[in-house]
Amino acid sequence: MASNMNEVVTKARNAFNTGRTKAVEFREKQLRNFLRLYEENTPQILEALKADLHKHKQESVAMEIAFNANEIRTTLRELRKWAAPEKPSKSFSNISDDVLIYNDPYGVVLVLGAWNYPIQVTLGPVAAAIAAGNCVIIKPSELATETANVIADLIPKYLDSECYQVVLGGPKETQQLLEQKFDYIFFTGSLRVGKIVHAAANRDLTPTTLELGGKSPCILDPSADIDIATRRILWGKWINAGQTCVAPDYILCNREVGRKFISCAESILHEWYGDDPQKSLDFGRIINDTHFQRVSKLIKGAKVAVGGKTDPQERFIELTILDDVKETDLTMQEEIFGPILPILYVDDVNEAIKYINRNDKPLALYLFSKDKKVVDLVLNNTSSGGVTVNDTVMHAGVDNAPFGGVGSSGMGNYHGKYGFDTFVHKKATLVKNFNSIAEKLSSVRYPPYSESKLKL
Ligand code: NAD
Repeated sequence: MASNMNEVVTKARNAFNTGRTKAVEFREKQLRNFLRLYEENTPQILEALKADLHKHKQESVAMEIAFNANEIRTTLRELRKWAAPEKPSKSFSNISDDVLIYNDPYGVVLVLGAWNYPIQVTLGPVAAAIAAGNCVIIKPSELATETANVIADLIPKYLDSECYQVVLGGPKETQQLLEQKFDYIFFTGSLRVGKIVHAAANRDLTPTTLELGGKSPCILDPSADIDIATRRILWGKWINAGQTCVAPDYILCNREVGRKFISCAESILHEWYGDDPQKSLDFGRIINDTHFQRVSKLIKGAKVAVGGKTDPQERFIELTILDDVKETDLTMQEEIFGPILPILYVDDVNEAIKYINRNDKPLALYLFSKDKKVVDLVLNNTSSGGVTVNDTVMHAGVDNAPFGGVGSSGMGNYHGKYGFDTFVHKKATLVKNFNSIAEKLSSVRYPPYSESKLKL
């Protein structure tokens, strides 16, 4: 198998060395084909996402297919501008020179995907890498099996089969891929595997983006509109059954706000899912038995305020709010990645900030407040990959804003122009001429050195 991986990468490297991916026309053609892939195969992709995650069509279209297709449309509109050499402003010392920044593709890129949004987080970075002129090896997550198969089936039908190849498999195959030399690695997944990928990349000093997860806090300030806030928090938590990297992981609020939140949540959940949420077609399922066991365990022994029902046959976990959790509880030790929402009580926003800053830097931070002072306090005194104030998840979909983590929630970012920039090396280029006046001016650098030259 390892020699197979070598063949895959060699094929891509040979294709890159032909130079064809450097032509903007070639990239545009591939991106147009990529768009057609989404347009012509939507039913097949929806079916695979349904089989893997019980995703409702509305979530699959909005957060997987349309999300990626819109990114490609924006890229096609902007690509010529992005790809052209940049001309930074010049200082007097370079007045007669050309100063350019070339956007050089890295070469052969490895994209390793996660299973929770298996189209968005696997194929989104692929489109950005193509736009930037790279060849790409794509390794979808083996846990979203049906979607991985669809990706492996469709990519060769629409994209250049030497430049863009799909490898299927799990940890073993990923390790074998990581034994190869790449020019860039883009990984989406857990902190644990992110460290493995980063260590492997370090062997060849391969630049790497790590899109990881973590516990994203949600501060609910007393000044917030609790009914609207509750709807937005519940939506962000329970899309894809809580298996969203930017899902609000837990709530920080005072006891009175917590009581109001729980009461609002009960009626909103009934409004959304009726008497038996398990029958709702809108609600996802946990990806596999291992994750089902892991998430279910978090409920045991906890103070369940809302929900709590689980069904291993269907890997269904009801929307569950855990009241009054403590910092030392199991729920607060790891990213939940399921439909469980603990409430940790704090007296005020300062205590919330202290709690957040005692822990790893989160991928996302949410704050609900009408008080500008509270908003400024939180924004200026916390560090996170991104923030949404008075909603959840939505910052991840803002056009042309960078999406990525910081500290243990990741390094690097993408989306829009930031995605293009991730996959190019910014090559500083100075083009001088043989003009005699310019030569005279710059000859001050030549020996013999002197005190008077130092003053110039
Ligand atoms: P994971 O780390 O288990 O798997 C990610 C990839 O690594 C998969 O392709 C998998 O095949 C591979 N892999 C797994 N074990 C490996 C090993 N031992 N050696 C080498 N490769 C291995 O992550 P996951 O379970 O697919 O995804 C869940 C995590 O991803 C969560 O933490 C979530 O927050 C995070 N996530 C982050 C983003 C983001 O954009 N920041 C998006 C989605 C998910």
